[in-house]
Amino acid sequence: MELNIIINQLVDKAKKPKKTILESCKSKNKKAVGWVAPYAPEEIIYAFDCVPVGLWGGKTELLKARTYLPVFACSIMQSVMEFEVKGTYDFLEAVLIPAVCDTLKCFGQKWKGTCPVIPFVYPQNRKAKGANHFLETEFKTMISKLEVILEKSFSIDDLNTSIEIYNKYRWAMRNFVELASQHTSIITPSIRHNIIKASYFMDKKEYYTLIKKLNEKLEVMPKDKNQKNKVIVTGLMLEPEELILEFENIGVTIVADDLAQESRQFRTDVPFMANPLSALAQQWINHTACSLAFDPKKQRIQSIIDLVNHYNAEGVVLALMKFCDPEEYDVPLIIEALREKKIPFLVIEIDQQATSFGQVITKVESFVDMLYTYK
Ligand code: SF4
Repeated sequence: MELNIIINQLVDKAKKPKKTILESCKSKNKKAVGWVAPYAPEEIIYAFDCVPVGLWGGKTELLKARTYLPVFACSIMQSVMEFEVKGTYDFLEAVLIPAVCDTLKCFGQKWKGTCPVIPFVYPQNRKAKGANHFLETEFKTMISKLEVILEKSFSIDDLNTSIEIYNKYRWAMRNFVELASQHTSIITPSIRHNIIKASYFMDKKEYYTLIKKLNEKLEVMPKDKNQKNKVIVTGLMLEPEELILEFENIGVTIVADDLAQESRQFRTDVPFMANPLSALAQQWINHTACSLAFDPKKQRIQSIIDLVNHYNAEGVVLALMKFCDPEEYDVPLIIEALREKKIPFLVIEIDQQATSFGQVITKVESFVDMLYTYK
């Protein structure tokens, strides 16, 4: 298959979520189970022979969401709520809701869709002795609820197979983002974003096959020379897509990311352990450098600086999700460290409901001018 065919196929799948999900289910006779961002044990859903669907909100006019959520709830959950009320998620068999922040803690109680929800808690005191056992117990409860909803028994062998597929996918994705950084004229910021986004709607095995082929094609292509305005993006997500297209128009090259919707999803493998449920829990405990997983050492700061050095980036863009507390707590610390290292940075606010980008465009243009003065 030609490179551009693979790219177009993946981008198309990202742009038509419902069609992609229904096709994935139909071709393999599967059902779809959703999970609300930022993290969930997709491997458990996959072991039930279902397609896991990541719910990351999206652009929509807020008509009813504000009836159920305060105006200061984060932008992404406002969108998720609006979609719930509209019935967008009603075709899903169930939805998992991870409590990683105060907003998500009460989100399960407010669910307005018709499909059943399964709230669960990711323990924040991750290094405590009982953290693994606690999370394993949460997963067991989730499994028994899914068994009732899906009318299907759970098998540990299927979970082991699922973990194997997901670890392969993570490895392929880490390879992809590395290759993408060397071929930014082909894998532009919007193409990169959409290729990664397609994984939320496709069967992982099918997705992995396409990414592997894409990587093989990129590996034999000459690397780009003279890349300009190379930046690292950090935050939860860089959307709406119009915003990424503005980055492209201004000539910004995204060489790597520390986004929850992108690289943070495939940064941490599930370790090999005799008990696969405990291994899944251990993955959360091992997950580092993330605003959503409590870390008193704030390893995220050094990890961003390491990315800047590894990719020889010229600056950092902090994409700050509107009203996201966990992200807001990290930003002053990151800014302080970047100032100390004399790394140029730009903070922009992410609002999924944004319709005009004039202010952001001006900020990004000034940032690019500033990068030239640093050279
Ligand atoms: S506050 Fe932040 S972490 Fe919590 S749901 Fe909103 S965007 Fe996600």
